[in-house]
Amino acid sequence: MADIKENTRVFSILCLLILPLGLLAQDFDSVEITTHHVKDNIYYLEGSGGNIGLIIGKDGVLIVDNQFAPLTNKIEAAITDLTKLPVTFVVNSHFHYDHTDGNENFGRAGAYIVSHDNARRRMESTQVLAGGYTQNRYEEAGLPKITFFDAMRFYFNDEPIELIYSGPGHTDGDAQVYFLESNVIHTGDMFVRYVLPFVDQNNGGSLDGMIEATDSLASVINDETVIIPGHGQLSSRGDLLDYRDMLVTIRGNLSRAKVQGLSPSEMLETEPADGFAPADASTNAWLLRAYDEYR
Ligand SMILES: [Zn+2]
Repeated sequence: MADIKENTRVFSILCLLILPLGLLAQDFDSVEITTHHVKDNIYYLEGSGGNIGLIIGKDGVLIVDNQFAPLTNKIEAAITDLTKLPVTFVVNSHFHYDHTDGNENFGRAGAYIVSHDNARRRMESTQVLAGGYTQNRYEEAGLPKITFFDAMRFYFNDEPIELIYSGPGHTDGDAQVYFLESNVIHTGDMFVRYVLPFVDQNNGGSLDGMIEATDSLASVINDETVIIPGHGQLSSRGDLLDYRDMLVTIRGNLSRAKVQGLSPSEMLETEPADGFAPADASTNAWLLRAYDEYR
């Protein structure tokens, strides 16, 4: 079982890196939803796609992201194991479909979908992601009914929950969801635990923005904060800072190549991500997109 799970994980990561968010004929029947307790009444669900943050209590259920539409029933079953109360709010950390493909299902079931305003705008029409994948527009039921610009706060289940906008980074409409009382934050894909984070330059993302956003997040949280990353295992502020340092180092290498006037292929020969990511096709594609930002 562990091998199968590991293969699924590697497969998901490859999808993200090589065919950014490419929906290969994925076998959702074999995907299992695993519930992890984080702290107090906060959990996260792991299946296929982005981590789902979850808070339960007397007011009902608020989830952060919802993975792929074919998994909605399994996700709902996992939630029902924790509470019989319905999902009242679905927060989208950003518009990418491996986090929001279930929107239409949850919207039809009566949940209010909440996102940054730019994320809703992206979902209103078809988008081509960096790397070439086409994400179709959402039906009305799947569009956020409530949006925010700079920040928003919920008071839900006795927990102040802050939606933070750290500027464009992964996309131009990312929300980080900070459960203030419990000191738990869901970062969406601004922070992930696979090696090179997907940066969606086609949709307002940039390496510079991601570095700025991680800086600002690191200043908001503290050493006791538990981080639910967009993908991967629970992490700490130290992990976030290591990730930021990696991005800063790679950006420095890219800037140096730029100053030296290196062509994209000459830049690749300097292996700017050496020590962090293998010198393979997906790393090269990532570096070329990042290098393009500095033209
Ligand atoms: Zn994403």
